[in-house]
Amino acid sequence: MAEEKEQRYDPAAIEPKWQRRWAAEPALYAAEPASCGKPKYYVLEMLPYPSGQLHMGHVRNYSIGDALARHMWMRGYNVLHPMGWDAFGLPAENAALKNNTPPREWTLNNIAAMKRQMERLGLGYDWATEVTTCLPEYYRWNQWFFLRMYEKGLVYRKKSKVNWCPKCATVLANEQVVDGCCWRHETTKVDQRDLVQWFFRITAYAQELLDDLDKLDGWPEKVRTMQRNWIGRSEGTDVDFFLAEKADEGIGNSHPSEHRPLAGDPGRDQELEKTRIRVFTTRVDTIFGATSVQLAPQHALVAEFTAADPKLKEQVDELLEQQKKAREAGDLGAIEKHGVPTGRFAINPYNGERIPIWVANYILADYGTGAIMSVPAHDERDFEFATKYGLPIVEVIQPVHKIEGAERLPFLSEDGVLVNSGEYDGLSCEAAQKKLQEIAAAKKFGEATITFRLKDWGVSRQRYWGTPIPMIHCERDGLVQVPDEQLPVVLPAQIDITQQGGSPLSRVPEFVNTKCPKCGGPARRETDTMDTFVDSSWYFYRYTDAKNPNKPFDPKTAQYWFPIDQYIGGVEHAILHLIYSRFWTKVMRDLGMIANDEPARRLFTQGMVIKDGAKMSKSKGNVVSPDEMVARYGADSTRMYALFAAPPDRDLDWQEDGVAGVSRFLARVWRLATKYAPLARSGRGQKAIVPAGVSLKLLRKLHQTIAKITLDFEGRWHFNTCVAAIMELVNDIQAADAQLAAGEVSAPAMLELLRSLVLLLAPFAPYLTAELWEELGEEGYVLRAPWPKSDPELAREDDLEIPVQINGKLVTVVLVAADATPKAIEAAALADEKVQSRTSGKTVAKVIVVPGKLVNLVVK
Ligand SMILES: [Zn+2]
Ligand SMILES: [Zn+2]
Repeated sequence: MAEEKEQRYDPAAIEPKWQRRWAAEPALYAAEPASCGKPKYYVLEMLPYPSGQLHMGHVRNYSIGDALARHMWMRGYNVLHPMGWDAFGLPAENAALKNNTPPREWTLNNIAAMKRQMERLGLGYDWATEVTTCLPEYYRWNQWFFLRMYEKGLVYRKKSKVNWCPKCATVLANEQVVDGCCWRHETTKVDQRDLVQWFFRITAYAQELLDDLDKLDGWPEKVRTMQRNWIGRSEGTDVDFFLAEKADEGIGNSHPSEHRPLAGDPGRDQELEKTRIRVFTTRVDTIFGATSVQLAPQHALVAEFTAADPKLKEQVDELLEQQKKAREAGDLGAIEKHGVPTGRFAINPYNGERIPIWVANYILADYGTGAIMSVPAHDERDFEFATKYGLPIVEVIQPVHKIEGAERLPFLSEDGVLVNSGEYDGLSCEAAQKKLQEIAAAKKFGEATITFRLKDWGVSRQRYWGTPIPMIHCERDGLVQVPDEQLPVVLPAQIDITQQGGSPLSRVPEFVNTKCPKCGGPARRETDTMDTFVDSSWYFYRYTDAKNPNKPFDPKTAQYWFPIDQYIGGVEHAILHLIYSRFWTKVMRDLGMIANDEPARRLFTQGMVIKDGAKMSKSKGNVVSPDEMVARYGADSTRMYALFAAPPDRDLDWQEDGVAGVSRFLARVWRLATKYAPLARSGRGQKAIVPAGVSLKLLRKLHQTIAKITLDFEGRWHFNTCVAAIMELVNDIQAADAQLAAGEVSAPAMLELLRSLVLLLAPFAPYLTAELWEELGEEGYVLRAPWPKSDPELAREDDLEIPVQINGKLVTVVLVAADATPKAIEAAALADEKVQSRTSGKTVAKVIVVPGKLVNLVVK
């Protein structure tokens, strides 16, 4: 039938029509200037890497952000909802090697493809603010920030270990090392080499990064905990054990601190390093129980010991090899502990006692000072080691309170007092720590210190597809900054990256050879590029002023938009990206560019999209392509399913049946709305009558649904239950079809029902609702219509009739509010006239209230 055909829901017709309309009107999703007077709302989804294909994880992430953005537009906010591309990185170089396509071309093609996918999904982005990090107009500001940070001492170079493939003759990123071998040469072991690398001094902000986590109460607790652990602050004491000179050995009980060179940090000179071993301990109160000092195999002293002792060198090399293997296996914590005695001794500065120096494979050079004091009686790991090698175990802390298991060593609690500790016996652990720290400071063999697990951020990459580091090496002047007016240092467009060995840029003479800005003589450009995490550390500031040719952004505009009101992305970014961008924000604040301390007020981390219980991956063959879903069911159904199938913070197991189900639901909405649209349209301008009967029932459901969804958008974000509530509302309307057909619902009531239904669905199904909005004869875009308000009077349920029994027999019925508490129901029953007359002179022994159902009185 012709009529049936007209009423068929056809996303393949509706969606492209609106996509064209929206594309022709970019102002629809554009942020307005601050002067618009509306409250601002900045909603941001993490920008994707342009691989060329959106995956379902993207679709979910963007559907959440887009629903929120649309809701806020309808609430009357000035919304900034931008999108961009994290466009530097290795895959572009790999693709270039594989397909012989220049990285830039490959990347820009991918961006175009993904942008088409986003537009097809109907995502409402302000494309005027688009940011592409691999373009010079963006990365020149990475270089500019690098120079500002260099001037502030926040950038430095130091020698550091890197992964080196001897076959590639180049540095590998950690993710290119697979089971200890090169990703391209599967049987070639990767070496560790020392290279001079660039670092950002993020540790200068360690304390603030930690403290400010307390302010981020709009962030998931798990992310804050992960960051706290990553920063890893621990309070403790640095203590210098003295190296017993070979000649001293056998004497050494005199207090050594008086006649030794003094240790002042920093600036401990090399001579001092040869006579002292600095250890860091969180338990200086146990120092009298130290029975050995343990050094990392890489410790500077070890090299000295082994120089004259080939046998020891052999043993240390073995330890190094074990550590390397464990590091490659990714589980240093589980290393089987081995050690060797060096034959040398260290002197405990508090009591002059000589204890042996060992080298152990589980001590890491890059953690703390690369040396520890071993206290087997009060440390799990030391206990294991001492037991294995027969080292003495000296108990120096005894519990004060009875503690389960305290009779067994090691005793780890700090709830104890010192024993076997000379003049400090009897002190509590806490008091002893304080006292011993004071002594160390006074006698200059140590001090109270705070250490962080957080390391400075190594940003050097020996890669082509990244931001060139804007520094110049001059033989006369050393390191020279590229002057601001020479920025950007442009990445050469076409280079042969199939060549091997070192930084690709080092093989481009036109790039490398330059003039020194200071002396004008010949000089060489730095050929390292920056870690791509630099790009994503501040991209969201650029969105506020994306086309500014003179500055990274205008501070006033940034101040209007920042902090981000809602940031949405995967929990896999909890550490690196989210710490680096917090660091960058603090640096920009200290450069006077912004006023906020933190980039984002609220953070939401959505769950993964999986299939058949496993992560989608090509190798498993369980990848669901968004394009395919959109082609089969439309963008609205695909997006809405991504929101409906699971709470947004949980993993979502993709079921195509579910998408089909959502599509059937939208088809029902379509049929219902088109069927009653003529009636609704005729109700425009008519005076509404007080609803009763089925009208009242449906309007009550409507206003309850409005209240629920509005509340969810304010923070609970149970979009799955929002969609479910809309489905219930539609079911109720459908169930009343006979009454609707009989004209029991007035035209104005029908208008309110359908209009509100479309508004409620608009954040979830933008295409369908745009079409129905027009169908209802409404002017303008649904996105510009105000979000419906719930009328609490209408939403309230009627009073309930509650039967009241006395000793199991029905006596009367009382009227109570639908949401009355059991106490209020009991009071209403006891106040009833019939109940009072039947209980007068008797005792009410018990009142049983079944809320919403029944009251029973037991009367004696
Ligand atoms: Zn290789
Ligand atoms: Zn020079």
